[in-house]
Amino acid sequence: MEDDGSRSGAAGRAAAIVGAGPAGLYALAALVRSDRFDRIDVFEAAPAPYGLVRYGVAPDHPKTRNISRVLAQGFTHTRVRFAGNVHVGRDVTVEELRAAYDAVIVSTGMLGDRRLGIPGEDLAGSYGASELVAWYTGHPQARAVELPPNLTTATVIGAGNVALDIARILAKDATALRGTSMPRHVLDALAASTVTDIHLVARRGPAQAKFTSPELHELGALEGVDLIVDPDDLVLGPADEEAVATDRHSRVIVDVCREWSERPRTGARRRIHLHYWSRPVRILGTTAVTGIELAPTRLGTAPPPGDLPTLTLPTELVVRAIGYHGTPIPGLPFDDSSGTVPSRDGRVLDDDAVLAGVYVTGWLRRGPTGVIATNRGDANEVAESVLADLDTLPTRQGDPDTVDKLLTERGIRVVSWTDWLRLEAHEKAAGDAGGGDPIVVHDLAAALEVIASGR
Ligand SMILES: Cc1cc2nc3c(=O)[nH]c(=O)nc-3n(C[C@H](O)[C@H](O)[C@H](O)COP(=O)(O)OP(=O)(O)OC[C@H]3O[C@@H](n4cnc5c(N)ncnc54)[C@H](O)[C@@H]3O)c2cc1C
Repeated sequence: MEDDGSRSGAAGRAAAIVGAGPAGLYALAALVRSDRFDRIDVFEAAPAPYGLVRYGVAPDHPKTRNISRVLAQGFTHTRVRFAGNVHVGRDVTVEELRAAYDAVIVSTGMLGDRRLGIPGEDLAGSYGASELVAWYTGHPQARAVELPPNLTTATVIGAGNVALDIARILAKDATALRGTSMPRHVLDALAASTVTDIHLVARRGPAQAKFTSPELHELGALEGVDLIVDPDDLVLGPADEEAVATDRHSRVIVDVCREWSERPRTGARRRIHLHYWSRPVRILGTTAVTGIELAPTRLGTAPPPGDLPTLTLPTELVVRAIGYHGTPIPGLPFDDSSGTVPSRDGRVLDDDAVLAGVYVTGWLRRGPTGVIATNRGDANEVAESVLADLDTLPTRQGDPDTVDKLLTERGIRVVSWTDWLRLEAHEKAAGDAGGGDPIVVHDLAAALEVIASGR
């Protein structure tokens, strides 16, 4: 890693942060503010910082993505280093970090998807949201997504904003996505898409949906798209009535859906169909997805109770957006059911005993909930735990420089902050050339080449 200069003004302690998403970078800001660390190194698997702000937030939401400017501020401090393209658990172990740093804060978020656990989930054309999102945001480790050549109908399972993002990106005219940060091959694939119908499937009703109203309104305002909602789905039961009466959020969603259900169809090129009270029971197909079977989850007003048939939708693409799920990091305890690392006040617990000097924050601590800003409070709490423990932590055996040496010996091309700024400038220049946002370099080798060549 580069030495950026002075290390004065602190007490000789060193911290490692693993994962440069919002949680890790808010934790970085809190540690910098404390002035208790001589050195803080941020290890990140991707060649770029910002986690899901770069590789999750929809490319047609550039204002939200701009929070990266705030997150970048920690790196202006001379005692902070960025070590991108370093996969902790593979390139360097948690044990090696624990030996070299006084405190290790793990904030690796969640990379995978929860599964539906139904037949057909592994057919070609069935994806987890994280795969589709990684593809359209240009994550270097993204699975190659191929929209089926015969695609007319896509089905997105889920009632949260990630499901809305995916439905919107699939429904939007690709010309409206030019000018975003999307890699060009993704834009080309979306421009060639022959999809006409997108089904959004929610297990419960509109009063329980987790969509937020700006995103829902955005869907309703899409050009060239008709919204189709079955008015029967909007008939409220007593619990829904109560939710609507007491919770503004529920009321807004129900009202928006009512308005959509009353809209005349315009004969638009594309349609988004909302199916509430539906649960997928089977994805159909032999090698590739050809359909999906949905079962009702409540007795509606029609057809009569007790006689509710399943609904089979022909579809060539199924995306499950039912929540992200963490993956274990070797050397750390892991709760597989929640996909999180067990902790108390951010202190990692191994069989209920505190693992001294190891902390967790962000999605990996609390699960895949909340907006970007939620991670600030989370990270501040964890930083408080770190600072409260600092004087009683066991003395570290080694030194952060030993980690630098290990990475060099292992042939890891560490991406420094200066390297990242070079890549960022390249992406900006590519975007400027077309009058749009910076265009993400999605290929790791290409990113490293840009960095090496200084272009
Ligand atoms: C599709 C999607 C869209 C979203 N849109 C919005 C939105 O519009 N507005 C909003 O407020 N919130 C949005 N969110 C939520 C927001 O992105 C999260 O709250 C936030 O990113 C969680 O922060 P985190 O730091 O815990 O995890 P992440 O952002 O996932 O960051 C984790 C980081 O750790 C790195 N990492 C993982 N494993 C390793 C390893 N082994 N070694 C080193 N590094 C590793 C990852 O590469 C990543 O950079 C969205 C989430 C998703 C999934």
